[in-house]
Amino acid sequence: MTIRPILIHPDPRLKKRCAPVTEITDAHRKLAEDMLETMYAAPGIGLAAPQVGVLERILVMDCVKDPEAEPRPMVLINPEITWASEETRVYEEGCLSIPDQFAEIERPAEVRVRWLDLEGREQEEHFTGLWATCVQHEIDHLDGKLFIDYLKPLRRQMITRKMVKLKRDRERERVAERARG
Ligand SMILES: [Zn+2]
Repeated sequence: MTIRPILIHPDPRLKKRCAPVTEITDAHRKLAEDMLETMYAAPGIGLAAPQVGVLERILVMDCVKDPEAEPRPMVLINPEITWASEETRVYEEGCLSIPDQFAEIERPAEVRVRWLDLEGREQEEHFTGLWATCVQHEIDHLDGKLFIDYLKPLRRQMITRKMVKLKRDRERERVAERARG
């Protein structure tokens, strides 16, 4: 398993609608393993393929937060929301592609989602609580949508400017390291 670099907003690849997976190959199985490894290492509770530069409809998640509890790594291919509750829930969301920025986002409190697992079998599950928030956030990624797209333009622009600066600082560090190296 390999930890893959996570793209940081703004990046055109994070704004693209991803293509459905038509055939599940070994490359997808490797990608899913790497994505889980990358997510756990970050650490995070969800990661979508475009965040590692792959524009296909795959996401991974594990919202078990209790370190004593059994982990539940999930891989969802071509996920689709088939039902959403009218009742909503506000949760302070963050994103591995927008480090250290958080905002309260309102979404349906419960959703039913259908997807293919790595063996190509159809699965369907009713998600509640953090799982429901997370799966909606990750499916948004597959449609090129970030949680900051729900915010007012001014707030969104402020966060984007911070990310541009963060990327510039990181790039400078990399160049300095190479020069030293
Ligand atoms: Zn995200």
